[in-house]
Amino acid sequence: MTLVLAPSRVSAVAERPNLSRMTRGALIDALVAAEVAAPSAARMRADQIWGWAHKRGATSFDVMTNVAKETRAALAEAFTLDRPQILDRQLSTDGVIKWLIGFGPGVAAETVFIPDVGRSGALCVSSQVGCTLNCTFCHTGTQALVRNLTAGEIFAQVQVARDDLNDWTAAPGERRLTNIVFMGMGEPLYNLDGVADAMDIISDDQGVGISRRRITVSTSGVVPKMTELGTRTSAMLAISLHAVSDELRDVLVPINRAYPIAELLKAIRAYPGLSNARRVTFEYVMLKGVNDSPAEARALVRLLAGIPAKINLIPFNPWPGAPYECSSNATIKTFADIVNRAGYASPIRTPRGRDILAACGQLRSESEKLRASQRRKLETAPG
Ligand code: SAH
Ligand code: SF4
Repeated sequence: MTLVLAPSRVSAVAERPNLSRMTRGALIDALVAAEVAAPSAARMRADQIWGWAHKRGATSFDVMTNVAKETRAALAEAFTLDRPQILDRQLSTDGVIKWLIGFGPGVAAETVFIPDVGRSGALCVSSQVGCTLNCTFCHTGTQALVRNLTAGEIFAQVQVARDDLNDWTAAPGERRLTNIVFMGMGEPLYNLDGVADAMDIISDDQGVGISRRRITVSTSGVVPKMTELGTRTSAMLAISLHAVSDELRDVLVPINRAYPIAELLKAIRAYPGLSNARRVTFEYVMLKGVNDSPAEARALVRLLAGIPAKINLIPFNPWPGAPYECSSNATIKTFADIVNRAGYASPIRTPRGRDILAACGQLRSESEKLRASQRRKLETAPG
């Protein structure tokens, strides 16, 4: 007799859907499809599971004491609540934590927790592995797009952080993770479905409950998708501006050739919900001798006149082979003074987690290099 491992069965086991990372609608549908709940009871059952998975971070059906034992067994047979694989975790001396999370062969995304940002701390999440755009100062831009992350994979980054930070059991006022920024790998507006569904899960008030006002989506300027971002998600908007002339922005942020600054500003002014209480954040990376002159600071102020805006000056985070250097502290200060005098509080985003190369915006590849160099060090270290 030959033992045949039926491939369909093997993959069915390997790919049990994860109930903790679905939208509520998908969760209800999944329970009905698997015949774990009758259509009439599915909503109630979904609410129970949602409460355990999203309020308490349950990773096992066993703990769901308000669900009958047989139902728990049926759930465990058909579904999982597993966390993704954490391929690497690094803690920086300034409290920044960085995780490399594996979602399958060749699919890994990086997530960074930054303390003391927002109300308590912000999580910088990735929306894609790689990026189709090629901003010349961004290391992710040198990598081809592997694929969009699913909403579940985006939410999984929040789960991993909350596990690590012990936020599931913390009282609401004590939570360390209070804000989300889509400033990791990828262009969120090229994965708007995934980002919008992930935001539904993250902001659900019967679950993690991070308000949409504390969720910021950063875009390089995908103009045709900006209104939809606002109407579908009510996310706070951040724009990677980085230059005040089309000539320079065409080079730094090449999507500018398709949607030049004037069109971008028009779309920003029309962003749903924009007001003094809900300002757009302009990100401006400081590149030595490229975009950091006082004249450009003044032009920036003129350009943004009338837009409820915040300006974040980001010291350039160098990467091996990068064609730019970071502006000097004095140049950044002069630039910031001009912007401040015009009435913008422009915090200079201090580089965080430098010792673990944890800058948002230049993620996975850096950590891979670091790990490779650490490995080499370990290999060559005397026994
Ligand atoms: N694709 C989106 C979101 C991810 S990038 C976007 O471009 O907005 C998040 C931010 O990090 C962007 O403002 C990006 O321009 C910036 N960034 C990328 N590489 C950087 C680097 N090496 N140093 C400093 N900021 C960088
Ligand atoms: Fe992509 Fe943003 Fe990097 Fe540009 S800055 S390459 S859009 S991740």
